Amino acid sequence: MKNIKRSLAIFAILALMVGGCKKEGGDNLRQNEKELAKKDAGQKLTQLSPGTKQKLIKLLAAAPASAKAKLNKKARVVLSTHPEYRDIVRKALNLETATCNDNTASNQWLDQQLADWDSEVISYVIATEMLDLPTYDALVFENSSAKQTFGANGEYTQRVTKTFKDLKRFWNIQSDGIVLAAMHGSMLTDRAKLIRTYQTVYGLDSGDAAYYADFVIAIVDAFPQLRKGNHPIFTFNAFAQSSFNLDGFGVIPDKIIMGDGIMDAFAAIGYGDVAPQAILAHEFGHHIQFQLNLFEEEESPEATRRTELMADAYSAYYLSHARGASMQWKRVQQFLGVFFNIGDCTITNIGHHGTPTQRMAAATWGYNVANNAQKQGHILTAQEFTRQFEAQLPKLIKQ
Ligand SMILES: [Zn+2]
Repeated sequence: MKNIKRSLAIFAILALMVGGCKKEGGDNLRQNEKELAKKDAGQKLTQLSPGTKQKLIKLLAAAPASAKAKLNKKARVVLSTHPEYRDIVRKALNLETATCNDNTASNQWLDQQLADWDSEVISYVIATEMLDLPTYDALVFENSSAKQTFGANGEYTQRVTKTFKDLKRFWNIQSDGIVLAAMHGSMLTDRAKLIRTYQTVYGLDSGDAAYYADFVIAIVDAFPQLRKGNHPIFTFNAFAQSSFNLDGFGVIPDKIIMGDGIMDAFAAIGYGDVAPQAILAHEFGHHIQFQLNLFEEEESPEATRRTELMADAYSAYYLSHARGASMQWKRVQQFLGVFFNIGDCTITNIGHHGTPTQRMAAATWGYNVANNAQKQGHILTAQEFTRQFEAQLPKLIKQ
């Protein structure tokens, strides 16, 4: 069981940013529906036509009970989903009281994007588990790097695919089998994708899956706030995953998934030149760890902190290395300063993913390994870099 769980390990990029994950699991959204009222602040933002409103109410009321029960349970692959991702979504939707520092530029940006969401739209989003569908669809079904586009309009495609190719050259691991795939909110308008995700991930039968697919399409059609699915909240995520067998489906390959929403957020606040590469380099770092078997058997905050700080160091080494992305360290540092501070939780589980200070120390160390090298053109093996990191770790966590 543990192995299955580990092989399913997903590292949401948001997980890196959110230091304290208070609750595990995915049912909290529903439990917090009463909090929705907060979002309204006394005004009704949604103006549905009476016909549309009635249609949605009917769809909700007639939703098959068997399907509802399954949606109420955790999805079949949800055990691997980072609770931090859900945390940030819940906080953005005011479904949960923020214990984290949410006064960062990217969180503020996300809040602005949600300014026209009221309790009506949120309740439909929650009733259909829409927030998770793009993630699960990509997790299970996007199993080839071919023909992937990144960004709702392909705006990140060139940067992301080039960086991926470069990372594969840079690090001496076997990376040919890693799939790099996108996560698009537009799948929320694709009936076939919705059906397959409800069936495979939530275990709905084909009839119920079709019912919910049509329900989702009707919701997206009714609420312009959802931007035809292209709202960043649906894809505010990126993760790495090692290959695993999904019962009744087959083998899911090693992969990295890059969500449009997370890249949009950093582009919007002025880090479009560095964010996609930095996020991808961190996720690639997790594949180094999968391959070198660097994860500890027992999961713990300390173990997670170690692997996350290590991924930060791999990322910084690649980004700043003369034969890597060769970026100006000051620019990388500026981005990481924002990145590491998002969701900086100061109350719970402070050491879970490393504090922003520890994370910056790990990244700076990675930069220094590149910058202080005698031979600038030399690239350390992943094994050697890891060995040096492990020796440094006690110092990094004292920061
Ligand atoms: Zn990570």
